[in-house]
Amino acid sequence: MRGSTQVLVIGGGPAGSTTAGLLARQGFQVTLLEKDRFPRYHIGESILPSCRPILELLGAWEKVAAHGFQPKGGAYFFWGGEEWEVRFSELGEDGANAWQVVRSEFDALLLGHARELGVDVHEATSVKELEFDGDRPVAAHWAGEHGRGRIAFDHLVDASGRGGVMATRYLRSRQFHDVFRNVAAWTYWKGTKKPAKGPDGAITVASVPDGWFWAIPLHDGTLSVGLVTGRDAFNSRRSELGGVDEVYHRALAQCPAVRDLVDGAEQVGGIKVEQDYSYVTERFAGPGYLLVGDAACFLDPLLSTGVHLATYSAMLGAAAIGSVLRGEVGEQEARDFYGSVYRQAYERLLVLVSVFYESYRGKDYHFYNAQRLSVADRDKLNLQASFDRIITGIADLKDAEDVYRRVQQHLHGAESGDPNPLANLNKQHEIKRAPVSPDRAVAGLYLTYEPQLGLRRTQDPDGSR
Ligand code: FAD
Repeated sequence: MRGSTQVLVIGGGPAGSTTAGLLARQGFQVTLLEKDRFPRYHIGESILPSCRPILELLGAWEKVAAHGFQPKGGAYFFWGGEEWEVRFSELGEDGANAWQVVRSEFDALLLGHARELGVDVHEATSVKELEFDGDRPVAAHWAGEHGRGRIAFDHLVDASGRGGVMATRYLRSRQFHDVFRNVAAWTYWKGTKKPAKGPDGAITVASVPDGWFWAIPLHDGTLSVGLVTGRDAFNSRRSELGGVDEVYHRALAQCPAVRDLVDGAEQVGGIKVEQDYSYVTERFAGPGYLLVGDAACFLDPLLSTGVHLATYSAMLGAAAIGSVLRGEVGEQEARDFYGSVYRQAYERLLVLVSVFYESYRGKDYHFYNAQRLSVADRDKLNLQASFDRIITGIADLKDAEDVYRRVQQHLHGAESGDPNPLANLNKQHEIKRAPVSPDRAVAGLYLTYEPQLGLRRTQDPDGSR
């Protein structure tokens, strides 16, 4: 392994391989260290449509589409006695094409793709320790199959997932959500029935008295079926019933929407359990480093947002670092932008998930809150469309477009009521006009990716483009 690199990425999950790949595409020298050897098992199988434009930027979309994963037509909710569905085909062009993925295969595909883009990938190589110059991480000590070593870097991307190298070992600022102190228990089933409701290949989300179930059809012929329940309820049921299997099967018996699918089917393998997975780190970025994906925050499996947030933050992170390395903006500007945009996406979904958990008041209530949280197109959308756009991640991409438009207005000196177009994202953040090239401004981070995201669709105020 080389002794120094421009960018070091810790972790080869969707966040790490997407950030690394997008940086390599911009021509930077990127090294990625991954502690496992891929393919490796991972939970998180239901992917949102918003991943598509990001995978297109990466040049990985065609590979994903050709792999044979189960196409996901949307979601079917049976929640608190009400039922409704989200059909991705009704979201228009942006909403088409999402997948249910076997994560070991999906993650290996993305990591292999990053390697093809020129990322120096080292599997079975774990980052053991970071070296700092003041607050700034400057080198990593690694250990792996080929011994041990040290690698210096200019920028660090922490994509180490729940392990959270920066957040748990150095920043020590990870906070767990009390409301989401949940436990997930899941396994796989073979020979299940096709759901009678919902679009083809949909995820089924069905509430039970103490929580909810997911059912996700996978292309290997299995159905992933997981129970999410409060930690206290889980622990007391486990003592009462004698074990995790009993808790899972008793809850399944109370969930007709999912029970009917596995009726007569064969359980494949044991029940896996994860808990306390919902947290947020105080800062998503600092001197010389960014936290992407689960390394920064994780919400809850309810709306299948994990891989969306991982790849979305990867896109923002790669654009931020790229703009700094090209000398277009200062690091502080780039990390303020990164931190505020990623946090906004996370917080919006956090509120939406909280609303689900707080209340079984029915779908209009969830739609109402989705409407309030949607920034883009607030006036134009009806409740159902607003809800759909948030839970498919598309609202985040539209917000990115909206930010870009406002930044362009600012940089081109158009008269606007708001002197700082990013004021809503970060009150402290000031865009300095002079040193920022209008064509490649970091605040318009998405410039790097505009052809694929269609960001040029927004006319400049003076109509010059
Ligand atoms: P990861 O995929 O976890 O990747 C991090 C990588 O870093 C790992 O490969 C790890 O080996 C490596 N690493 C860690 N420490 C080190 C180190 N020191 N050195 C080198 N490498 C290191 N998301 C969805 O989108 N849809 C779902 O349906 C869904 N369901 C979920 C269900 C449950 C129960 C849970 C808990 C999560 C679910 N998620 C879901 C979330 C999803 O799993 C994560 O959000 C997603 O995997 C985040 O990607 P990542 O790249 O940030 O992290």
